[in-house]
Amino acid sequence: MPKKSVTEIDCAGRRVLVRVDFNVPLDGGRVTEDTRITAALPTLQHCLKRGAALVVASHLGRPRGKPDPKYSLRPVAERLQELLGLPVSLAPDCVGPEVEAQARALQPGQVLLLENLRFHPEEEANDEGFARQLAALADCYVDDAFAAAHRAHASIEAIARLLRPAVAGLLMAQELEALGRILEAPRRPVVAILGGAKVSDKLALVEHLIDKVDGLLIGGGMAYTFLAALGHGVGKSLLEADRVEAARAAMARARGAGVSVGLPVDVVAAPAIDGTEGIRTVAVREIPRDLMGLDIGPATVAQFEAALKAAGTVVWNGPMGVFEKPPFAAGTMGVARAVAGCGAFSVIGGGDTIAAVHAAGVTGKIGYVSTAGGAFLEFLEGRVLPGVAVLDDA
Ligand code: AMP
Repeated sequence: MPKKSVTEIDCAGRRVLVRVDFNVPLDGGRVTEDTRITAALPTLQHCLKRGAALVVASHLGRPRGKPDPKYSLRPVAERLQELLGLPVSLAPDCVGPEVEAQARALQPGQVLLLENLRFHPEEEANDEGFARQLAALADCYVDDAFAAAHRAHASIEAIARLLRPAVAGLLMAQELEALGRILEAPRRPVVAILGGAKVSDKLALVEHLIDKVDGLLIGGGMAYTFLAALGHGVGKSLLEADRVEAARAAMARARGAGVSVGLPVDVVAAPAIDGTEGIRTVAVREIPRDLMGLDIGPATVAQFEAALKAAGTVVWNGPMGVFEKPPFAAGTMGVARAVAGCGAFSVIGGGDTIAAVHAAGVTGKIGYVSTAGGAFLEFLEGRVLPGVAVLDDA
């Protein structure tokens, strides 16, 4: 159901609490990758231009419910200030009388960044009392944290029941639109590419996508459970033996639904994940017992590329191999180039996939790069995201 957008509310002279996902990588007190901050700028600038005062809230890392300077949002405040070109004050906490006084004193055009929400265990517990304290800081609520929308946390779910209007920010709206385009009335054929290590994490997604897409291409560690289900020996490759039956059933259902399933035909295999010795490209029929498959091979890349050429819409999550290590990166890089060059509307999500597309130098040729990983997958699984469901309907 379409959600009300920040463009539909009057925020002049009001304090707006904007929930963002500034869970960015840090190194030595500096933000090393600021995509998630830049992605939220349009919403912050929109509200400021219309005369709002901003209370900005985010989590960062996993501080386990207590204050920890390692997870302070101070470096984020500094980067946000540079990007906005405006002073950004960092509150000493995210709730409490001192923060309330700071929020009350805000004038239109001013920005207060709250300290890490996860310094309080009540945040992840979706505690209503804590949400009420957050709600006391503002007059209305804007959720621009799509990447965290799969979490029923206090600043995402409970708060939106207390602080109305509760509307979608511009990034949230853009993510919902781009991902919605894959599932509702997409240009066909739709091809989904799935990779990554664990098949158990992705089976629900495979199941849901069978009803939505025309083709599935499966690589990465998860492919070996499917190959085993077809009767191949997979040597020392990743294998989830307790999921072989589920993989076989999913392939049978896909066949019945007319959905093609592309699996590796060759793999780059090695005796160990860290080694540089004994690396061989082998057909999947011939994976030696003492080797593990760590990337898809060139024949597989060529087959996947051919399948993508015919696609109208492509969605991709998960690397095709251990792409962090150069000897096993070619498959993922090849698929990144194939997605970028196939002419379809492409959507990618997940930290590894985004990193791979960057490394291949083709980010500019991807139709839409989601800021989300977990929320991206849950959306594609057809699950209701608590952070979206709770927002005001359009
Ligand atoms: P996931 O978190 O499930 O998306 O998995 C991402 C991880 O899967 C990356 O760190 C890859 O190194 C790893 N991976 C991909 N292919 C393989 C493989 N064939 N064997 C072992 N790990 C893999």
